[in-house]
Amino acid sequence: MTARREKPWARHYQHIWHERAADSRFPLWARVAWLAYGSHRANGHANYKAGEIALVFSRVNTATGEVRPEDKHNIQRAIKAAIASGWLSEGSSSLCLVVPAHAVAGGMGHPGEVCKIHERRAKRSIRQSKGGSTSDSL
Ligand SMILES: [Zn+2]
Repeated sequence: MTARREKPWARHYQHIWHERAADSRFPLWARVAWLAYGSHRANGHANYKAGEIALVFSRVNTATGEVRPEDKHNIQRAIKAAIASGWLSEGSSSLCLVVPAHAVAGGMGHPGEVCKIHERRAKRSIRQSKGGSTSDSL
């Protein structure tokens, strides 16, 4: 037996995180983080279409059957709270939730895979720093 310190690790099934994300007994910020844990690829990024996360956390009016997506401002606040709590990484947004690389590994794809959302954001940032302007926003 060696005396070196190791960081034990385990694997988690991603669908379990999706099931937890669907449990409305928990706060929205945790559920948003769990959605990311259930969806991230090997690069740690989980991409969504505009409004998709709000749709995931829709509420159903049991009297009318009306489905109402979660308010986008609530989603934004939940993402910020998940970042502040350390469950999501800085740079997470409603288009791409990022799990912390120091805590999470694995998933479909390749760890070096480029995230299209963050690549586009980085290019836009470079254009803006060079004095250019852009009309697209995240
Ligand atoms: Zn990304």
